Amino acid sequence: MEQVVIIGSGPAGYTAAIYAARAGYQPTVITGSVTAGGNLVNTTDVENFPGFPDGILGPELMERMAAQASRFGAQLVPDDAIEVSLGGPVKEVVTLGGLRLAASAVIVATGSSYKELGLASEKALGGRGVSYCATCDGFFFRGKEVVVVGGGDSAMEEAVFLTKFAAKVTVVHRRGELRASRIMAERALAHPQIEFAWHSVVDQIHGVEAVTGVTLRDVRSDALKPLDADGVFVAIGHTPNSELFKDQLELDRDGYIIVDGPSAPDEPGNAQHQATSLPGVFACGDVVDRVYRQAITAAGSGAQAALDAQDYLEELAAEAAIAAATI
Ligand code: NAP
Repeated sequence: MEQVVIIGSGPAGYTAAIYAARAGYQPTVITGSVTAGGNLVNTTDVENFPGFPDGILGPELMERMAAQASRFGAQLVPDDAIEVSLGGPVKEVVTLGGLRLAASAVIVATGSSYKELGLASEKALGGRGVSYCATCDGFFFRGKEVVVVGGGDSAMEEAVFLTKFAAKVTVVHRRGELRASRIMAERALAHPQIEFAWHSVVDQIHGVEAVTGVTLRDVRSDALKPLDADGVFVAIGHTPNSELFKDQLELDRDGYIIVDGPSAPDEPGNAQHQATSLPGVFACGDVVDRVYRQAITAAGSGAQAALDAQDYLEELAAEAAIAAATI
């Protein structure tokens, strides 16, 4: 019987592991067989994670977090959770590799996956001009021309943010009107550095070592049009990795796991910000967060989830001690 099982191993999962391990709970972390480290493993320089004034490579940052969790006794299991039973006091987690774990508390930190365009050239130029995060990579496009794909709030936010660096931003949207909220849309539409390619999709991304341009396709006429670009930011939405939990935890309409959050009433049993709809189950990182999605905010919520789990386990232990004394 484990005290804490953590599912997922991005900044949220590893930080939860560091906190839970330092509190003496020897957590088991199901890191993912091919996805260990989460989305940061696919990035290059991370320059906005505090403590690294010269920046750090995404994979190295995640290796360091894993090593820090191991140092305090966390068991890292490179496997995938495929089945969970979270309702009762004893939670069960089954892995693809055949492991069956029983635990008093579970922390879900499965992250989110950005949606991709699905082009072979997009894969080939990932990290070489194709990006899914303007906050992470915008800095590298000072004075350059970039394309942002999408018509939602994320795309508008990315486009406006990128104007701080890029000389010109072209938003490529498949329809003739934006999905984004009015205020975000107006801000982008009025911006002098932002142009719009309406009714268009990216048909090809060009370049070998780095992006040099794209071919746009008009979805009404199928006409192709070349456009010079040094970067392509894909902002067509994220999918929270919550499929495994959808029948057991309360999710919002887009699949994000609902947690109490900092505004929950500060009452006994309700003061755990990362608490899900089931007692003893906590969630953190991108699987609960549609807004910030930063390594540092995920790490912060991972720490909160571990402290909440600790609080829960202490309550359980206190209840058990009272029950034992009463018998
Ligand atoms: P979204 O609202 O789902 O928008 C995705 C956009 O990408 C849509 O315009 C969609 O086109 C387009 N798209 C989807 N698949 C595509 C494909 N394969 N090829 C080309 N275009 C494609 O996603 P989001 O912008 O990430 O926003 C998600 C949620 O987070 C929303 O509720 C949003 O309000 C919220 N959010 C809020 C803020 C903020 O308030 N600061 C910032 C970011 C996100 P169609 O319009 O044709 O469907």
